[in-house]
Amino acid sequence: MDVTDLSLGELKAALDSGKVSAVEATQAALNKIERNKNLNNYVTVCGTEALAAAFLADEKRAKGENGALLGVPIAVKDNISTEGIRTTCASKFLKDYVPPYDATVVKKLKDAGAVIVGKTNMDEFAMGSTDETSAFGAVHSAVDAERVPGGSSGGSANTVAAGEVPCALGSDTGGSIRQPASYCGVVGLKPTYSAVSRYGLIAFASSLDQIGTFTRTCDDAYALYRVICGKDKADATSSDIKNITQELNGDVRGKTIGIADEFTKNLDGGVGKRFNAAVDALKAQGAKIKSVSIKSFDTALAVYYVISSAEAASNLSRYDGVKYGARAEGYKDIAELYTKSRTEFFGDEVKRRIMIGNYVLSSGYYDAYYLKASRIRTLIAREYNAALCGCDALICPTAPTVAPKIGAQTDPALTYLSDIYTVPVNITGLPAVSVPFGTSDGLPVGVQIIGKAFDEAGILGIGKALEIAAGGNGNA
Ligand code: GLN
Repeated sequence: MDVTDLSLGELKAALDSGKVSAVEATQAALNKIERNKNLNNYVTVCGTEALAAAFLADEKRAKGENGALLGVPIAVKDNISTEGIRTTCASKFLKDYVPPYDATVVKKLKDAGAVIVGKTNMDEFAMGSTDETSAFGAVHSAVDAERVPGGSSGGSANTVAAGEVPCALGSDTGGSIRQPASYCGVVGLKPTYSAVSRYGLIAFASSLDQIGTFTRTCDDAYALYRVICGKDKADATSSDIKNITQELNGDVRGKTIGIADEFTKNLDGGVGKRFNAAVDALKAQGAKIKSVSIKSFDTALAVYYVISSAEAASNLSRYDGVKYGARAEGYKDIAELYTKSRTEFFGDEVKRRIMIGNYVLSSGYYDAYYLKASRIRTLIAREYNAALCGCDALICPTAPTVAPKIGAQTDPALTYLSDIYTVPVNITGLPAVSVPFGTSDGLPVGVQIIGKAFDEAGILGIGKALEIAAGGNGNA
């Protein structure tokens, strides 16, 4: 048995039964990460700390103690604060930043006994869809090293796809968990906005950001979600989660699943075929498919890039070379210190978002852009919620294409298009999961299931039905 092949559930069972120790599981993960170094999945690997945590986990188990993730190796995206371990957001600005505290999710992982093996590579400040904007170099897909893993949580998706760890955390502001999950062939869950505390997540766009999970199965996603969700007094927007069940129900008989016509126009051939096959598989298992309409579908992308850039411009104003992160040298006054630091340490994509954000917020343009986008946001949320009134969930592709080649996407506007199916979900705050459903030309294709607020169990149950149809591994 190669311990790194096990899913989270299988590994937990192997640990509980004593077939494998936490130290063995952690060492195997670290060895594989080292062997796959050229994928560039990690900004920081914390081998020493991980082995010490694994040793403690084994000691606890020997004393009869247990925890939901006791001894399970896990990777954490590098925009989630880890006490004593640098957290860079893949930016030159934070390349030496070591947080003095743990994010709430990290604390919850540790309390459950998880072993954090490292911090994963990502697009700088989570802005991007390919992981190529990282100041630490691009990530190479585990499926095809010439291709991107998707972004911005590409390192987290790819380390799970490469079989280095059974699970990882990422963040999703407009698709950054679901799109890389789709490109890499793993399960990526973006929970309902507020279901998981954002305390310690370095902010990109606070009204859209949400921490979520990467795993190999829907059951594993639910197990990890159960550990990280819930009210946190350090995050006033967090919610109490009440409807937690122990088991996912993968039976879709009698469930109604909505598809909007708007979802399926202009769909790339291979992705379209896999999507239709997923719909057929759900029908064959007894689900009812209902046609719905989401007229605002095309407007969501523009709304997202106005709102997310406005919030980013505001959130990133704290990086000025004075109180936080790196500081440029050779300035003659404070204005020059700001300018030099921000010029030198922010990458092009981050600068682009800051400029768009400040533009749409500036007096004279505020009403035309930011205010208008905020109003359309309300309409989009209403439309999705109305469509969900008559259905258990909505289904659509996760991304319009499979993973592109590294360096192939040079036009930012075209890159933004890869988020067309995912951004509306953040705008509405609803939960969604990307589940792998086979391949097109050898490259993974994901299907996105969008649910009612706080119905993570419902969408993962439908995902489980797709896994069953695909023979357990998405290769239908
Ligand atoms: N690709 C989107 C963007 O660049 C989404 C990023 C994210 O979800 N963090 O804004």
